[in-house]
Amino acid sequence: MASAKLQAPRGTFDVLPSDGRRRDSLRALADDLLGRAGYGSFESPVFEDTELFARGVGASTDIVQKEMFTFEDKGGRSLTLRPEGTAGACRAYVEHGMHKQPQPVKLRYWGPFFRHETPQAGRYRQFAQIGAEALGSDDPSLDAELILLLDSLLERSGVKSRLRLSSLGNAGTREAYGEELRVHLRERGSELSEEVRGRIDTNALRAFDSGHEGTRAVMADAPRLIDRLDPGDAEHFAEVRALLDDAGVAYDLDPTLVRGLDYYTRTVFEFESPSLGAQSGVGGGGRYDGLVSQLGGPATPGVGWAAGVERILLAGSAAPAPEAPVYVAIVDREHRRAAFALARELRGAGMAAQVEQAGRSMKGQMKHAGRLDASTVVIVGDEIEVKDMGTGEQVPVADAREAIAVVTAGAAISG
Ligand code: ATP
Ligand code: MG
Repeated sequence: MASAKLQAPRGTFDVLPSDGRRRDSLRALADDLLGRAGYGSFESPVFEDTELFARGVGASTDIVQKEMFTFEDKGGRSLTLRPEGTAGACRAYVEHGMHKQPQPVKLRYWGPFFRHETPQAGRYRQFAQIGAEALGSDDPSLDAELILLLDSLLERSGVKSRLRLSSLGNAGTREAYGEELRVHLRERGSELSEEVRGRIDTNALRAFDSGHEGTRAVMADAPRLIDRLDPGDAEHFAEVRALLDDAGVAYDLDPTLVRGLDYYTRTVFEFESPSLGAQSGVGGGGRYDGLVSQLGGPATPGVGWAAGVERILLAGSAAPAPEAPVYVAIVDREHRRAAFALARELRGAGMAAQVEQAGRSMKGQMKHAGRLDASTVVIVGDEIEVKDMGTGEQVPVADAREAIAVVTAGAAISG
């Protein structure tokens, strides 16, 4: 056992600094975009009572039936690593009495989520999501705002995607429609895949997700929920669409869009990127006007989305190059403290600065500065010199203070 090689668990991965840079810039972009629209930073625990997800996500969903990491703690409580963020946000809304605040309450989050799935490209057991939720108002402008924010986030991350949009109406409409759909599915049961046939009573809507040929033919003739919306829901959906049209965002109206979570009402949407292959969903969400009350809170409308960080990075373009550092080289050991102080002062002056920390020769240090793509090298010995790595020009300066002045002035010119 002692010699067994330790590896990250199946379906998980390490984020190394080379990947971390793109994650950091995506996070900064999301914080900026969502923050400017009033979505405040929100965090919740990575594990919650299992019951939250059983009740919130829905007992018939794939997530609850197959994908949850559930364990018992030492006190015998059943806990689950969070598979998604909306249920936790709603729990927190109720727990902290956020309905007493001015509405809507807008939250944004970023963090790890866990699903026990078969790992493949773009599908992991621990992955990160960016999410946004707006609770306490059913104003259609929130649906449109959230869709537009995710659209901007994807566009600015270089992700080319298609937006699918639909409306599921309210719980009553959905129930009546469900019965109509079940009748249709039973009538043509022999044409369906075994899986879909087995799910007619528990989750008939998911039949729209099937890739099975016979099932697809049956679904093409199936009644459509979008044609059954009551006047209030139809008007709400028309307004969401009008706002998207005003913003010039293209979408496909897709009545077959079924999201994998039970809690949706009215608006549902999903962004897909064809470049991702089988795992094409980059982000999606919708309105969940019944969820908060289902979790024991006051009747509270809500709408939100979550997007997969790894899928955005897989489908997106490279991040902008990081700021080129200043490299502080050390002529000999006795100048180590002066060089260390100089790097610290350069950082204090707002520069990216690194100092030699591995005992390299001067030749090795210049090579290393090249590897770091340094803009400038400050060489600290009895004399101090500043070398511009672009032009190769090297000039002596009087002291550390002048070196900092020269370097920051150079950055201001080239910056
Ligand atoms: P899929 O259809 O690919 O299983 P989903 O419908 O289960 O996705 P959501 O619950 O809507 O996904 O989660 C929102 C986003 O989180 C997805 O669009 C995707 O980008 C990402 N995501 C979901 N599951 C995983 C996973 N196992 N690994 C990586 N990213 C994931
Ligand atoms: Mg899934």
